[in-house]
Amino acid sequence: MEELAKVKQELERTKTELAILYEISNAMRTTLKLEEILYIILTGVTAHLGLGFNRALLFLVNEKDGLIEGKLGIGPDSGEEANRIWRHIEQEKMDMDDLISAHKVSNNVMDSSFNRQVQRFKLQLKEQNASLLSLSVFEGMPLHLTTETIQSYRNDPVIQVLNPEEIAIVPLKAKDKVKGLILADNSITKKPISKDDIRMLNMLANQAGLAIENSQLYETAVIRSHTDSLTNLWNHGYFQYLLQSEMEKAKATSVPLSLVTVDIDDFKVYNDSLGHQAGDSILKEIARLLKNQSRKMDYVCRYGGEEFTIILPQTEKREAHLIAERLRQDIEKQIFIHEEILPNKKLTVSIGLATFPRDGQNPSELISYSDKTLYQAKHKGKNTTCSEIDCITA
Ligand code: GH3
Ligand code: MG
Ligand code: MG
Repeated sequence: MEELAKVKQELERTKTELAILYEISNAMRTTLKLEEILYIILTGVTAHLGLGFNRALLFLVNEKDGLIEGKLGIGPDSGEEANRIWRHIEQEKMDMDDLISAHKVSNNVMDSSFNRQVQRFKLQLKEQNASLLSLSVFEGMPLHLTTETIQSYRNDPVIQVLNPEEIAIVPLKAKDKVKGLILADNSITKKPISKDDIRMLNMLANQAGLAIENSQLYETAVIRSHTDSLTNLWNHGYFQYLLQSEMEKAKATSVPLSLVTVDIDDFKVYNDSLGHQAGDSILKEIARLLKNQSRKMDYVCRYGGEEFTIILPQTEKREAHLIAERLRQDIEKQIFIHEEILPNKKLTVSIGLATFPRDGQNPSELISYSDKTLYQAKHKGKNTTCSEIDCITA
């Protein structure tokens, strides 16, 4: 009889566990936004109705820079806060679905001092003299540090910051690759972490790793679809989108915006003499120069062929003219291979520009005005910046 009761209890537990995992994986499928996915994962780990840990942190591996970086931390800043939240959840009869509804990435969580502390946390990913986090990434196995075993890690950076009595660390894996880690503990209730807790956390992490990878692949694909493959600048389609949305912002805030158009002088001559591949190298070089010399807030795009556009938010005409003129001079000063074959013995550009609201009320009017001023610059003998149709400022 006792056996039977035990089996029944086991079954009940498994049922609850599966239901929790099911709800969390479903929630993860509702979005491809990384920030939302991370929020769903840690809500699942910390919610009373989920895995019920008091505190959870999520780190992601940044392979490019060889770092492991804190991305999100959910944990009541104090025990007081925890009790308040749990009472609220019980009173509201909130279920997992409500809690992790993807569109409610809570400002309370994002702004909490705990989360900000986690987001500042960065560690080198290295195999020698490895930190606990590096070790967990390389091992790729769940780790349970108990009150005894944690003693040998007392000097480890993450243990020093969190000061846990006991902690679980599980890898977020996708196709056997460790994408990050989840750390969880019961800093407030001091409830011991059980084998079942670790098992559940690991099952959740396996789902989460895949969701994170999908979201990262999606983000890469989106960026690629907006990028010109030769120059790595924003492509024509994305330029149109950016101009539309930046003009809407400019309208809403009554702040001017400028659009710069850059066209290479006599580029056909260069191509006809040296071939298209030589021409393509020049396009790449000019793209790099425009990108390096423009401000962080500006959008540098390849409009098409050998024409580039730069959107300058919050920039009125005088300032835009100074910026454009500086770019023109930078290109004039730069030495390009075989430029002596060009009519002026130098590779140069002509630049036109238009400013909202003076020169156009919508993207099409602004592009058209900028085109006209570019035509004026060509007309004036090239290697010139024109910001008015009568081009008196040049
Ligand atoms: P202008 O000074 O009046 O601008 O003379 P231009 O010869 O530069 O004439 P235009 O602006 O019409 O430039 C068109 C030429 O640019 C045609 C082609 O040789 C070159 N071109 C356009 N797109 C590409 C490209 O993707 N790669 C290469 N290599 N050349 C291109
Ligand atoms: Mg052209
Ligand atoms: Mg040209």
